[in-house]
Amino acid sequence: MGSDVRYDIGELGRPGGIGIRCQGVVHLYRTFEGHDVVALQGVDLTIEPGERVAFLGPSGSGKSTLLTLLGGIQKPSAGRIFLGDDEISRLGERSLAKIRSRRVSTMLQGSTRNLLPYATARQNIAFARLAMTSAERRNAVLDVDLLRRVGLADQVDQVVSTMSGGQRQRLALACAVSTGPQLLLADEPTSQLSHEDRDHVIELIHGLGDDLDTTIVVVTHQPEVAATFPRTVTMKGGRVGAEGRDGAEYVVIGAEGVVHLPTHLAEQWPQGTLVRIEPEEMDRLVVSRPGARTPAVGGTDTDTRGHAAPQEDPA
Ligand code: ADP
Ligand code: MG
Repeated sequence: MGSDVRYDIGELGRPGGIGIRCQGVVHLYRTFEGHDVVALQGVDLTIEPGERVAFLGPSGSGKSTLLTLLGGIQKPSAGRIFLGDDEISRLGERSLAKIRSRRVSTMLQGSTRNLLPYATARQNIAFARLAMTSAERRNAVLDVDLLRRVGLADQVDQVVSTMSGGQRQRLALACAVSTGPQLLLADEPTSQLSHEDRDHVIELIHGLGDDLDTTIVVVTHQPEVAATFPRTVTMKGGRVGAEGRDGAEYVVIGAEGVVHLPTHLAEQWPQGTLVRIEPEEMDRLVVSRPGARTPAVGGTDTDTRGHAAPQEDPA
Protein backbone atom coordinates (compact mmCIF):
# COMPACT_ATOMS: atom_id res chain seq x y z
CA MET A 1 0.00 0.00 0.00
CA GLY A 2 1.05 3.63 -0.41
CA SER A 3 3.72 4.92 -2.73
CA ASP A 4 5.76 2.24 -4.46
CA VAL A 5 8.91 4.30 -4.55
CA ARG A 6 10.69 5.51 -1.44
CA TYR A 7 12.02 9.03 -1.85
CA ASP A 8 14.97 9.81 0.30
CA ILE A 9 14.39 12.85 2.44
CA GLY A 10 17.59 12.31 4.38
CA GLU A 11 18.71 15.84 3.57
CA LEU A 12 16.50 17.06 6.36
CA GLY A 13 19.65 16.35 8.28
CA ARG A 14 18.55 13.53 10.57
CA PRO A 15 18.29 15.68 13.66
CA GLY A 16 17.75 12.60 15.87
CA GLY A 17 14.99 12.14 18.39
CA ILE A 18 14.64 14.04 21.62
CA GLY A 19 13.66 12.56 25.00
CA ILE A 20 10.73 13.70 27.15
CA ARG A 21 10.43 13.74 30.93
CA CYS A 22 7.24 14.73 32.79
CA GLN A 23 7.30 15.09 36.56
CA GLY A 24 4.05 15.60 38.47
CA VAL A 25 2.42 17.47 35.60
CA VAL A 26 -0.91 19.07 36.51
CA HIS A 27 -3.13 21.04 34.18
CA LEU A 28 -6.28 22.99 35.00
CA TYR A 29 -8.62 24.75 32.61
CA ARG A 30 -10.68 27.63 33.85
CA THR A 31 -14.12 27.65 32.27
CA PHE A 32 -16.07 30.79 31.37
CA GLU A 33 -18.17 30.27 34.49
CA GLY A 34 -14.98 30.39 36.54
CA HIS A 35 -14.84 26.67 37.45
CA ASP A 36 -11.58 24.79 37.31
CA VAL A 37 -11.50 21.61 35.29
CA VAL A 38 -8.66 19.31 36.25
CA ALA A 39 -7.44 17.84 32.95
CA LEU A 40 -4.19 16.36 34.25
CA GLN A 41 -3.45 15.42 37.83
CA GLY A 42 0.12 14.34 38.31
CA VAL A 43 1.52 12.85 35.13
CA ASP A 44 4.89 11.14 35.54
CA LEU A 45 6.24 9.84 32.26
CA THR A 46 9.58 9.35 30.56
CA ILE A 47 9.95 8.79 26.82
CA GLU A 48 13.40 7.95 25.47
CA PRO A 49 14.94 9.70 22.46
CA GLY A 50 13.64 8.05 19.29
CA GLU A 51 10.94 6.09 21.10
CA ARG A 52 7.48 5.64 19.53
CA VAL A 53 4.51 5.76 21.83
CA ALA A 54 0.75 5.58 21.33
CA PHE A 55 -1.41 7.42 23.89
CA LEU A 56 -4.72 5.66 24.56
CA GLY A 57 -7.54 6.26 26.99
CA PRO A 58 -11.18 7.27 27.20
CA SER A 59 -12.43 10.61 25.97
CA GLY A 60 -11.70 13.34 28.51
CA SER A 61 -8.78 11.48 30.10
CA GLY A 62 -6.32 14.24 29.19
CA LYS A 63 -4.59 12.88 26.07
CA SER A 64 -4.93 16.04 23.98
CA THR A 65 -3.99 18.25 26.91
CA LEU A 66 -0.81 16.29 27.55
CA LEU A 67 0.11 16.42 23.86
CA THR A 68 -0.27 20.21 23.68
CA LEU A 69 1.93 20.54 26.79
CA LEU A 70 4.63 18.34 25.22
CA GLY A 71 4.40 20.45 22.06
CA GLY A 72 4.92 23.70 23.97
CA ILE A 73 1.51 24.97 22.87
CA GLN A 74 0.29 25.34 26.45
CA LYS A 75 2.17 25.48 29.73
CA PRO A 76 1.28 23.17 32.62
CA SER A 77 -0.37 24.64 35.73
CA ALA A 78 2.19 22.76 37.84
CA GLY A 79 4.91 20.17 37.46
CA ARG A 80 7.89 20.00 35.17
CA ILE A 81 8.32 18.98 31.53
CA PHE A 82 11.73 18.49 29.96
CA LEU A 83 12.44 18.11 26.25
CA GLY A 84 16.00 16.91 26.23
CA ASP A 85 17.79 19.25 28.64
CA ASP A 86 15.32 22.11 28.23
CA GLU A 87 12.66 22.53 30.86
CA ILE A 88 9.90 23.74 28.56
CA SER A 89 7.49 24.23 31.45
CA ARG A 90 9.67 27.18 32.49
CA LEU A 91 10.39 28.76 29.13
CA GLY A 92 8.87 32.05 28.00
CA GLU A 93 6.69 32.35 24.93
CA ARG A 94 9.59 33.45 22.74
CA SER A 95 11.70 30.38 23.50
CA LEU A 96 8.66 28.14 23.18
CA ALA A 97 7.94 29.59 19.74
CA LYS A 98 11.49 28.72 18.74
CA ILE A 99 11.08 25.16 19.98
CA ARG A 100 7.79 24.81 18.10
CA SER A 101 9.30 26.06 14.86
CA ARG A 102 12.46 23.96 15.01
CA ARG A 103 12.31 20.97 17.28
CA VAL A 104 8.72 19.86 17.86
CA SER A 105 5.87 19.54 15.39
CA THR A 106 2.30 18.96 16.49
CA MET A 107 -0.57 17.72 14.36
CA LEU A 108 -3.62 18.88 16.29
CA GLN A 109 -6.83 16.89 16.61
CA GLY A 110 -9.24 17.53 13.73
CA SER A 111 -8.45 17.77 10.04
CA THR A 112 -9.05 21.50 9.68
CA ARG A 113 -6.64 22.88 12.23
CA ASN A 114 -3.29 22.07 10.68
CA LEU A 115 -3.58 23.47 7.16
CA LEU A 116 -4.44 26.69 5.37
CA PRO A 117 -7.55 25.58 3.44
CA TYR A 118 -7.32 28.08 0.57
CA ALA A 119 -3.61 27.59 -0.08
CA THR A 120 -1.96 24.90 -2.21
CA ALA A 121 0.04 21.97 -0.89
CA ARG A 122 3.30 23.69 -1.74
CA GLN A 123 2.20 26.96 -0.11
CA ASN A 124 1.29 25.08 3.06
CA ILE A 125 4.80 23.65 3.26
CA ALA A 126 6.29 27.09 2.69
CA PHE A 127 4.09 28.41 5.50
CA ALA A 128 5.18 25.64 7.86
CA ARG A 129 8.79 26.61 7.13
CA LEU A 130 8.38 30.36 7.64
CA ALA A 131 10.30 30.42 10.90
CA MET A 132 13.34 28.60 9.48
CA THR A 133 16.40 30.62 8.61
CA SER A 134 17.33 30.92 4.93
CA ALA A 135 20.33 28.64 5.52
CA GLU A 136 18.08 26.02 7.10
CA ARG A 137 15.68 26.30 4.20
CA ARG A 138 18.51 25.84 1.70
CA ASN A 139 19.51 22.61 3.43
CA ALA A 140 15.96 21.35 3.73
CA VAL A 141 14.48 18.79 1.36
CA LEU A 142 12.66 20.29 -1.64
CA ASP A 143 8.94 20.73 -1.14
CA VAL A 144 8.13 18.65 -4.25
CA ASP A 145 10.31 15.77 -3.04
CA LEU A 146 8.61 15.83 0.34
CA LEU A 147 5.16 15.89 -1.29
CA ARG A 148 6.17 12.98 -3.50
CA ARG A 149 7.29 11.11 -0.40
CA VAL A 150 3.78 11.34 1.04
CA GLY A 151 2.12 10.40 -2.23
CA LEU A 152 1.04 13.91 -3.27
CA ALA A 153 3.18 14.31 -6.41
CA ASP A 154 0.07 15.22 -8.41
CA GLN A 155 -1.33 17.60 -5.80
CA VAL A 156 1.62 20.01 -5.48
CA ASP A 157 -0.39 22.99 -6.73
CA GLN A 158 -3.79 21.77 -5.61
CA VAL A 159 -5.75 23.83 -3.09
CA VAL A 160 -6.30 22.05 0.25
CA SER A 161 -10.07 22.60 0.28
CA THR A 162 -10.41 20.39 -2.82
CA MET A 163 -8.40 17.50 -1.34
CA SER A 164 -9.73 14.28 0.19
CA GLY A 165 -9.41 13.59 3.91
CA GLY A 166 -6.51 11.19 3.35
CA GLN A 167 -4.68 13.69 1.16
CA ARG A 168 -5.11 16.41 3.77
CA GLN A 169 -3.70 14.27 6.56
CA ARG A 170 -0.73 13.28 4.41
CA LEU A 171 -0.15 16.96 3.63
CA ALA A 172 -0.47 17.87 7.31
CA LEU A 173 2.14 15.21 8.04
CA ALA A 174 4.44 16.55 5.30
CA CYS A 175 4.11 20.04 6.80
CA ALA A 176 4.82 18.67 10.28
CA VAL A 177 8.06 16.98 9.21
CA SER A 178 9.11 19.73 6.77
CA THR A 179 11.09 21.47 9.50
CA GLY A 180 12.95 18.29 10.49
CA PRO A 181 11.51 17.99 14.02
CA GLN A 182 13.12 15.93 16.78
CA LEU A 183 9.69 15.18 18.20
CA LEU A 184 6.51 14.54 16.19
CA LEU A 185 3.21 14.71 18.06
CA ALA A 186 -0.05 13.72 16.34
CA ASP A 187 -3.49 13.83 17.94
CA GLU A 188 -5.88 11.27 16.40
CA PRO A 189 -4.30 11.68 12.95
CA THR A 190 -6.31 8.83 11.44
CA SER A 191 -9.64 8.95 13.25
CA GLN A 192 -11.58 10.42 10.31
CA LEU A 193 -10.02 8.26 7.60
CA SER A 194 -10.95 5.11 5.69
CA HIS A 195 -9.01 1.99 6.65
CA GLU A 196 -6.86 2.32 3.57
CA ASP A 197 -6.02 5.98 4.22
CA ARG A 198 -5.45 5.19 7.90
CA ASP A 199 -2.91 2.49 7.08
CA HIS A 200 -1.19 4.75 4.56
CA VAL A 201 -0.85 7.62 7.05
CA ILE A 202 0.45 5.32 9.81
CA GLU A 203 2.94 3.73 7.42
CA LEU A 204 4.15 7.22 6.48
CA ILE A 205 4.44 8.33 10.11
CA HIS A 206 6.69 5.35 10.86
CA GLY A 207 8.58 5.71 7.56
CA LEU A 208 9.28 9.41 8.08
CA GLY A 209 10.19 8.62 11.69
CA ASP A 210 12.79 6.17 10.35
CA ASP A 211 14.13 8.81 7.95
CA LEU A 212 14.51 11.41 10.70
CA ASP A 213 15.06 9.23 13.81
CA THR A 214 12.30 11.33 15.34
CA THR A 215 10.63 10.60 18.67
CA ILE A 216 6.93 10.00 17.90
CA VAL A 217 3.84 10.26 20.09
CA VAL A 218 0.45 9.53 18.52
CA VAL A 219 -2.92 9.75 20.27
CA THR A 220 -5.36 7.16 18.99
CA HIS A 221 -8.40 5.14 19.97
CA GLN A 222 -7.89 2.68 17.10
CA PRO A 223 -6.40 -0.69 18.14
CA GLU A 224 -4.99 -1.19 14.63
CA VAL A 225 -3.00 2.03 15.02
CA ALA A 226 -1.89 1.30 18.60
CA ALA A 227 -0.68 -2.15 17.49
CA THR A 228 1.98 -0.54 15.27
CA PHE A 229 3.63 1.04 18.35
CA PRO A 230 6.03 -0.86 20.61
CA ARG A 231 4.81 1.09 23.64
CA THR A 232 1.36 2.30 24.67
CA VAL A 233 0.50 4.71 27.48
CA THR A 234 -3.11 4.63 28.65
CA MET A 235 -4.41 7.79 30.29
CA LYS A 236 -7.09 7.49 32.94
CA GLY A 237 -8.62 10.39 34.81
CA GLY A 238 -5.78 12.77 34.02
CA ARG A 239 -2.85 10.54 34.78
CA VAL A 240 -1.01 7.56 33.35
CA GLY A 241 -3.12 4.55 34.36
CA ALA A 242 -1.46 1.76 32.42
CA GLU A 243 1.31 0.99 30.00
CA GLY A 244 1.83 -1.67 27.39
CA ARG A 245 5.30 -2.72 26.38
CA ASP A 246 5.96 -5.29 23.71
CA GLY A 247 2.51 -6.81 24.16
CA ALA A 248 2.53 -7.05 28.00
CA GLU A 249 0.14 -4.82 29.96
CA TYR A 250 1.15 -3.06 33.17
CA VAL A 251 -0.83 -0.96 35.62
CA VAL A 252 1.12 2.11 36.73
CA ILE A 253 1.21 3.05 40.41
CA GLY A 254 0.42 6.72 40.70
CA ALA A 255 0.95 9.45 43.27
CA GLU A 256 0.19 8.35 46.83
CA GLY A 257 0.03 4.72 45.70
CA VAL A 258 -3.08 5.07 43.53
CA VAL A 259 -3.73 2.07 41.25
CA HIS A 260 -6.38 1.94 38.53
CA LEU A 261 -7.92 -1.49 37.98
CA PRO A 262 -8.03 -2.56 34.34
CA THR A 263 -11.44 -1.70 32.86
CA HIS A 264 -12.62 -5.30 32.56
CA LEU A 265 -11.92 -5.91 36.26
CA ALA A 266 -13.28 -2.57 37.46
CA GLU A 267 -16.78 -3.67 36.45
CA GLN A 268 -16.58 -6.57 38.93
CA TRP A 269 -14.94 -4.48 41.64
CA PRO A 270 -17.14 -1.38 41.69
CA GLN A 271 -16.22 1.95 43.24
CA GLY A 272 -16.52 1.80 47.01
CA THR A 273 -15.67 -1.91 47.27
CA LEU A 274 -13.63 -2.66 50.38
CA VAL A 275 -10.55 -4.69 49.62
CA ARG A 276 -7.59 -6.00 51.54
CA ILE A 277 -4.11 -5.80 50.10
CA GLU A 278 -1.55 -8.18 51.51
CA PRO A 279 1.99 -8.73 50.39
CA GLU A 280 2.46 -12.36 49.45
CA GLU A 281 6.03 -12.15 48.29
CA MET A 282 8.45 -9.32 47.62
CA ASP A 283 7.02 -8.73 44.17
CA ARG A 284 3.48 -9.97 44.60
CA LEU A 285 0.43 -8.47 46.31
CA VAL A 286 -2.88 -10.20 46.87
CA VAL A 287 -6.01 -8.04 46.58
CA SER A 288 -8.99 -9.72 48.18
CA ARG A 289 -12.59 -8.88 48.94
CA PRO A 290 -13.37 -10.49 52.30
CA GLY A 291 -16.86 -11.91 52.47
CA ALA A 292 -17.41 -12.02 48.73
CA ARG A 293 -17.30 -15.76 48.40
CA THR A 294 -19.91 -16.09 45.65
CA PRO A 295 -18.18 -16.76 42.39
CA ALA A 296 -18.65 -14.13 39.70
CA VAL A 297 -20.86 -15.11 36.77
CA GLY A 298 -19.10 -17.66 34.62
CA GLY A 299 -16.02 -17.54 36.82
CA THR A 300 -14.41 -19.54 39.58
CA ASP A 301 -13.74 -18.48 43.14
CA THR A 302 -10.34 -17.20 42.07
CA ASP A 303 -12.23 -14.27 40.58
CA THR A 304 -12.40 -12.74 44.03
CA ARG A 305 -8.63 -12.71 44.29
CA GLY A 306 -6.83 -10.33 42.03
CA HIS A 307 -3.09 -10.17 41.78
CA ALA A 308 -1.91 -6.59 41.72
CA ALA A 309 1.58 -7.44 40.56
CA PRO A 310 2.64 -6.50 37.01
CA GLN A 311 0.13 -8.28 34.86
CA GLU A 312 0.97 -11.04 32.49
CA ASP A 313 -1.11 -10.92 29.35
CA PRO A 314 -4.31 -12.61 30.56
CA ALA A 315 -5.08 -14.06 27.12
P1 ADP B 1 -8.91 13.73 25.67
O1 ADP B 1 -8.07 14.25 24.55
O2 ADP B 1 -8.34 12.52 26.34
O3 ADP B 1 -10.33 13.50 25.23
P2 ADP B 1 -8.70 16.41 26.80
O4 ADP B 1 -7.27 16.66 27.11
O5 ADP B 1 -9.25 17.01 25.57
O6 ADP B 1 -8.95 14.82 26.83
O7 ADP B 1 -9.58 16.91 28.02
C1 ADP B 1 -9.32 16.59 29.38
C2 ADP B 1 -10.31 17.30 30.27
O8 ADP B 1 -10.13 18.70 30.16
C3 ADP B 1 -11.77 17.03 29.90
O9 ADP B 1 -12.52 17.02 31.09
C4 ADP B 1 -12.14 18.23 29.07
O10 ADP B 1 -13.52 18.50 29.15
C5 ADP B 1 -11.31 19.33 29.70
N1 ADP B 1 -10.94 20.38 28.74
C6 ADP B 1 -10.20 20.21 27.62
N2 ADP B 1 -9.99 21.39 26.99
C7 ADP B 1 -10.65 22.32 27.73
C8 ADP B 1 -10.83 23.74 27.62
N3 ADP B 1 -10.27 24.43 26.61
N4 ADP B 1 -11.56 24.37 28.57
C9 ADP B 1 -12.10 23.68 29.60
N5 ADP B 1 -11.97 22.36 29.78
C10 ADP B 1 -11.25 21.67 28.86
MG1 MG C 1 -8.52 14.58 22.52
